[in-house]
Amino acid sequence: MPGLILARYGEIGLKGKNRWLFEEKLIERMRAALAGCGVEGIEREYGRIYVRVSEDVEKACRRLTRVFGLVAVSPAVSADLDLEAIKAAAAAALAEARAEGHTTFKVDTRRPNKSFPLTSPEVNRALGTHLLRTFPDLKVDVHNPAVKLEVELRERAYIYWRSLPGPGGLPLGVSGRAVLLLSGGIDSPVAGWMAMKRGVEIIPVYFHSFPFTSDRAKEKVVDLCRVLARYAGRIKLYVIPFTDIQKALHQGGPDELQTILLRRMMMRIARRIAEREGAVALITGESVGQVASQTLPSLAATGAVVDLPILRPLIALDKEEIIARAKSIGTFEISIRPYADCCTVFVPRHPETRPDLDRVARVEAGLVDPALIDAALERAEISEIEDESTEEGSWEA
Ligand code: ATP
Ligand code: MG
Repeated sequence: MPGLILARYGEIGLKGKNRWLFEEKLIERMRAALAGCGVEGIEREYGRIYVRVSEDVEKACRRLTRVFGLVAVSPAVSADLDLEAIKAAAAAALAEARAEGHTTFKVDTRRPNKSFPLTSPEVNRALGTHLLRTFPDLKVDVHNPAVKLEVELRERAYIYWRSLPGPGGLPLGVSGRAVLLLSGGIDSPVAGWMAMKRGVEIIPVYFHSFPFTSDRAKEKVVDLCRVLARYAGRIKLYVIPFTDIQKALHQGGPDELQTILLRRMMMRIARRIAEREGAVALITGESVGQVASQTLPSLAATGAVVDLPILRPLIALDKEEIIARAKSIGTFEISIRPYADCCTVFVPRHPETRPDLDRVARVEAGLVDPALIDAALERAEISEIEDESTEEGSWEA
């Protein structure tokens, strides 16, 4: 059914002078997410965005649940600012809820537009009386209603009773761009998603050590990008052939430093991609103490080779918390497919947990021919991964 959507946003409401820019970006993202939904118009009013669509309004709402910046979306009806018109619209909305089997309701009115002659409690009472008369089988329950009929009196009246939660955060793109080091594991996709939620556009890079890591491992990463693309529309992925570099490190570097050396090479290459893509930070899925290469000294040794900020959105999360987030964004099932990634191929038996920076720099010198790095970048496979998903999300009355 065609109709009207009321979208609510959170934090951008607080952005002072830049607020206008944030709203513009949010609307641009909403338009992109609604491609094919028959958008007829998008209007904004303090803290609210109204979208009129000619196609299925529920499908359009579901699409909007992936737009960062939005906290909730509701199918709504609108009416002129006139009590009789509002009564009719409220009855139409409640009829929908009743058709879904709900038997109790409450009217909750807000009146930002003080020119409307009745106060909010007066509107609640007038509508409640009218609705009980119209639907004698329904009851009012002010404490625990099955349906909360929300009425907002603005330039017009807007009425809605159900909503889908949005992801919150800031519109994608308002915080600039960063390169995400994306493995096929559980953590890095979540880290990327969390940075996206704060408005950071991501460019993932995956280091592929074929044949030590199979093409199935690469497919995992592509599938993870497909999930992230649901929130971004499209994702540009770099796959870097990493075999030669990894072999060079393995042949000449001490066993206990392998993971650190590997990470440092990844950082350097990611840095180069950042430069090319106009990205101003790197993102990893690291979390303090999770493994030997993620102790504070290890993180310091890894980060020392780049001059860009390294964002680690998961730094203080426990594995359980990360897994819960991975499940909710839809990456978990892909991440647990059993194909090895390059870090699990030559895992040191006794990894260093307190690497000495000077020693790392010393053993590293001359280990990898810089030409190998250039060659890896030249042979990068770059692909644009599109959102091909279907809509999901569950309604909250
Ligand atoms: P993840 O679940 O993201 O793989 P992890 O806890 O398994 O994380 P590691 O495998 O030690 O941790 O990797 C730490 C971080 O290094 C990852 O979160 C990711 O950002 C980056 N990384 C590791 N391997 C790769 C790879 N093959 N390609 C790109 N980035 C990688
Ligand atoms: Mg991993």
